[in-house]
Amino acid sequence: MVLKKCIYLRHVTNKLIMEQTIIKKRVIGVDISLEETTFAIVNAKGEILVMDSFPSEDYPDANDYISTLCERILMMIESNGGYESIRSVGVSCPSANFTTGCMENSPNMPWKGVIPIGPMMRDRLGLAVAVANNAQVIALGEHAFGCARGMQNFVVITLGSGMGSCLFSNGLVHKGSDGYAGEVGHTCIVKNGRTCGCGKKGCLETYTAAKGIVVTAREVMAESDAPSLMRSAENLSPKMISMFCDQGDELAIEVYRRTGHMLGLGLANYASIVNPEAIVFTGGIAKAGDWLLDPMLETFEEHVYKNMQGKTKFLVSELDEDNHDVLGASVLAWEVKEYSLFK
Ligand SMILES: [Zn+2]
Repeated sequence: MVLKKCIYLRHVTNKLIMEQTIIKKRVIGVDISLEETTFAIVNAKGEILVMDSFPSEDYPDANDYISTLCERILMMIESNGGYESIRSVGVSCPSANFTTGCMENSPNMPWKGVIPIGPMMRDRLGLAVAVANNAQVIALGEHAFGCARGMQNFVVITLGSGMGSCLFSNGLVHKGSDGYAGEVGHTCIVKNGRTCGCGKKGCLETYTAAKGIVVTAREVMAESDAPSLMRSAENLSPKMISMFCDQGDELAIEVYRRTGHMLGLGLANYASIVNPEAIVFTGGIAKAGDWLLDPMLETFEEHVYKNMQGKTKFLVSELDEDNHDVLGASVLAWEVKEYSLFK
């Protein structure tokens, strides 16, 4: 009788263990950006099972926005495997504080002040939620599924409307004491230089991100009377300038030469401090390819600490641009250890 009971108990225990290991095999990855909020159910292999999105700007009120996001996530879960299959949620958003789970004073998003996105989502979904900034999430994705797979020390640089970075150190994201480590875009590269959105002057980002590249283009055009396709372009953008480079436009090439020089200088300082194995570029501006990367590399090698010369690998992310943020956010979700991550 006792033996029978033991066998029964063992059977129940095994069944419970099996259920726990089998059913919690999916997470939710969420990417919040100015234009769009994308969310997906992702399995442990990094396969996106279902993905959906809606315009973030349609919701000027943060409460309405988060309620809608959570309702849509719950609907997606309901029709794709059910609530019990989901382990946790990872969220990528601008100006994120990993420790508090809040979006703090984002200069570009519609919601001002401190928005407790992590705690609000946790309470509405009843699931553990982790929040990190875009560059940190991309680094997690590159480490798990992309070109930084297996690397212990690398830097991710995101180049788009801003310049972000994440330092991956000894196999982990280096967050710093308040979760803001890696703001290389807001290190000063020119004393009393261009005014930055952060309120300071001469930040690297004002030379290497989208607006700064267009400012450089205007400077280059003003310095000479040489013909250029840039002169007649409406709403000049970094993408257009790189297309003009492909067509042999000398002034457009000069714009990326100067941009690459500033980027190389900033990255040489960064690398001399943290000594990464590789620097991984991602974001729309990285698509300018060699027009940007050749001058960057020349300046980088000229300025990086001598013992590191020729040793840093430069890679451009090969992950699908449409889903690399939700993939990275799914890796973040797997890292959540407890429900009440935030106070
Ligand atoms: Zn700045």
